[in-house]
Amino acid sequence: MTMTAPAPPAAAPKARKRILTGDRPTGERHVGHYVGTLANRVRLQDEYDTFLLVADHHMMTTRLTGLEEIEHNIRATVLGNLAVGIDPERTTIYLQSQVPEVAEIFLYFAMMVTVPRAQRIPTLKEQMRDLRIAHPSYGLLGYPILQAADILCVKGDLVPVGQDQRSHIELTREIARDFNDRFGPVFPVPEPLIPELGMLPGTDGGTKMGNSIGNVIDLFDDAKTVERKVMGMYTDPNRIRATDPGKVEGNPVFVYHDFFNPDRAEVEDLKERYRTGRVGDVEVKKRLAVALNAFLDPIRERRDALLRDPRIVEEVIATGTARARAEAQRTLREMRAAMKLDYFGA
Ligand code: ATP
Ligand code: MG
Repeated sequence: MTMTAPAPPAAAPKARKRILTGDRPTGERHVGHYVGTLANRVRLQDEYDTFLLVADHHMMTTRLTGLEEIEHNIRATVLGNLAVGIDPERTTIYLQSQVPEVAEIFLYFAMMVTVPRAQRIPTLKEQMRDLRIAHPSYGLLGYPILQAADILCVKGDLVPVGQDQRSHIELTREIARDFNDRFGPVFPVPEPLIPELGMLPGTDGGTKMGNSIGNVIDLFDDAKTVERKVMGMYTDPNRIRATDPGKVEGNPVFVYHDFFNPDRAEVEDLKERYRTGRVGDVEVKKRLAVALNAFLDPIRERRDALLRDPRIVEEVIATGTARARAEAQRTLREMRAAMKLDYFGA
């Protein structure tokens, strides 16, 4: 007689992979941030266990003035993320400076990385050049090591970054492997997740929209401001009259249309007429302002709804930081035990 074997116990659900992503609180979130990170982040939170770091300590790597602005910028950063659809139930939003364990983890990692290795990060030279820093501080040199502490304190598996940050993630991977080899297996070796998202030019035609450049359209600009900024946008500099054939490729107004105007037929029609000198800049821009405002309306509405609770940002940060801190404390305990530093009850 055959017996029916008892059903095997249901397999434990596979833990979702963890993503660590972050923002330096540089100010308002703008439509460039949306294109480069926010939209992707909103998609990823469905699939992954997402941690979103607000990296206020990182602000000090390049600037020790204007620190009084950081608090405002933290609020703007968090509110921008919430307004585009980051859900604090699914995404743990936390403040770097309120997880002091990160600083201790950074200290241990700093002992493992040689000075020439830290100097070999290409973004260091770029930042020094762009910001006219003659001699990097010890903190700026250590910026990618602090980033490794950010990622590894919550044991991130995946890190969505731009191509320019690949070298930072490579250093994080080296640190994770090095730690595991020296002391025992504590860390996953995280992978970069590098989507091809493109760069949104500034309203001034510069290659990158950026707060520090002042060529931005903020996610929270009101409709009139958006219209004014769009009407002042840079287009094809060689085109003088509406009857001149114009250049569409690389023309910021059309780059924006491609990103933000869902009416593809309208965009193709405008491009065709622009190329053949049958539409003026004013019409192209007016239609862009309409499309951008339609895109921004739900974001502005969500912000207004969120702000009905005036303490929303503080609450989101407090909850997320408590969660992230518990993770960092556990990681640090594991590290100390692996390193045989768990003396006196540590
Ligand atoms: P800013 O450069 O505006 O002063 P920021 O320092 O917050 O502000 P970055 O640190 O340069 O901005 O970028 C933060 C993230 O947003 C990065 O992943 C970057 O790729 C993305 N990002 C910023 N600006 C743009 C843009 N104009 N187009 C696409 N992605 C962008
Ligand atoms: Mg920047």
